Parts: sequence; structure tokens; C-alpha cells
Amino acid sequence: MILPILIHPDPRLKTRTEPVAEVTDELRRLADDMLETMYDAPGIGLAAPQVGVMTRLLVMDCVKDEETPARPMVLINPEVIGASDDLSAFEEGCLSIPEQYAEVTRPAEVDVRWTGLDGKVHEEHFADLWATCVQHEIDHLNGKLFIDYLSPMKRQIITRKMQKLKRERARA
Ligand SMILES: [Zn+2]
Repeated sequence: MILPILIHPDPRLKTRTEPVAEVTDELRRLADDMLETMYDAPGIGLAAPQVGVMTRLLVMDCVKDEETPARPMVLINPEVIGASDDLSAFEEGCLSIPEQYAEVTRPAEVDVRWTGLDGKVHEEHFADLWATCVQHEIDHLNGKLFIDYLSPMKRQIITRKMQKLKRERARA
């Protein structure tokens, strides 16, 4: 099922989410729906608060070329446990801030630990686009958006555009 994606500004996008206590069938369904919603958008990552669920769950798939098989990932209670000193800047976007892009500088590589839908603890080293994406999505779980890294003026310009977009969509 494709879920509606919240558009900034929305208080739920600014709120820290609660850890998942148990992998339930309901959580599995949510993860499935979030992956379907992300691929449909299309996007490379989606965090639960973006669909109004205030829990520490994110999905992502940063495979870009068509030769490589898709790699849908579901991360429950993810934590960055290590970050490189090297930084990299990527042009980021967000499904909750449609059609707005800006360069954000973050650690180039990170180690992340999370619980999988199998209930087991996983750890992986992420680089390149995967590293940017996983940090962007974990930020969502902490109520932080990529525009929070920009100057107040740039952030305000984007926020005004989103307010206008929401008004237009409400009228449509
Ligand atoms: Zn986002």
C-alpha cells in the first residue's frame, strides 16, 4: 500500500521518534508499505516519521544503475557507531521537501548498527551515496531535516515554498 508522505513543515517531522521494542507483523507491514511508497515516489530512502509513524524505522535502497539488483534495506533502531574524519558533500533532496536540493556536508563513511526484520543485530560500513542516505534518514528519526544544515535564510526560502505547495495541494 502506498502511504501519504508528510510535507515539511509538519511538527511530526521535527519530533524525535521512539525506539521499536519488538518486531511485530504490524512493523513488517509498515516496512513493506514504506518500501513500496519509496520506490513509487521514487526515492532512495524513507523514514517512518515521513509517513506519520513516530518510531525508529527507516528503509532505503541506493542502487542506482539498472544492471545491479535492487537492495531494499529495512533498519530498525539504527545508530551510527563510527564516522570517518573525511567529509563529503552531496546534493541532497527529501521526499518531504519535494523538488528542493542543496549540498550538505557529512562524514564520507559511517558504521551503522541496527536491528533487522529478522530480529537480529546487523552492522555495516557505508560509503558514498549509501553513507549520505543512511545519515539523512537517521536524522529524520531525530526530528532533523537536511535543510537544518543550511543557513537560516536558505531554510526559510525553502520552507515558504513548501507552505505554498501545501496550500496549492489543499486547494486541488
Ligand atoms: Zn528526507
